[in-house]
Amino acid sequence: NSFLELNLSRPLVRACEALGYKKPTPIQAACIPLALTGRDICGSAMTGSGKTAAFTLPVLERLLFRPKRILAIRVLILTPTRELAAQVHSMIEKLAQFTDIRCCLVVGGLSTKVQEAALRSMPDIVVATPGRIIDHLRNSLSVGLEDLAVLILDEADRLLELGFSAEIQELIRMCPKRRQTMLFSATMTEEVDKLIKLSLNKPVRLEA
Ligand code: AMP
Repeated sequence: NSFLELNLSRPLVRACEALGYKKPTPIQAACIPLALTGRDICGSAMTGSGKTAAFTLPVLERLLFRPKRILAIRVLILTPTRELAAQVHSMIEKLAQFTDIRCCLVVGGLSTKVQEAALRSMPDIVVATPGRIIDHLRNSLSVGLEDLAVLILDEADRLLELGFSAEIQELIRMCPKRRQTMLFSATMTEEVDKLIKLSLNKPVRLEA
């Protein structure tokens, strides 16, 4: 019951050690091996369960073996609020500290110009709130989601409560059909269920 046994590469296991993680939390033990197979995942998980690392570690593992010469956004993580986006971004930077994987934060309240430049440099991972990333994608000729491999919807219930349904649907339409999608939600409402049907392909359901 260790991160090494979950088949994660050395730089990721080192990062977990550096963060003081002794062993995977239940959601991590369940989610990481499944996510590494490429399956879609729908997780009922609360903040505090370790869900951020549960979806980040398999994504980083995949990115370690990406072709380095193709620059493109490979992973998009949507969160309901700027604060949560900033927390997820900071967690990813810590878990990716021994790799060359780059992550960028795209949220309201930060300079649009600076974020546009960051997006143009084609980070591997973008952590964003739906409104702000859609503004960039609609207005940019150079930055798109056509090479996206993984879409993550974090706190899906709150994303919908905050009225982001139309934006999320538009973003899903911009993503390739062939991709991996992971959705996490503290509660499973009817609205969340609709989003699951719209965005996930034969998902495995996990509970933490
Ligand atoms: P989250 O549920 O993703 O918001 O994470 C809650 C807190 O748990 C964060 O402060 C993480 O750094 C911490 N955490 C995540 N995974 C582990 C782990 N395997 N062992 C100890 N702490 C962890």
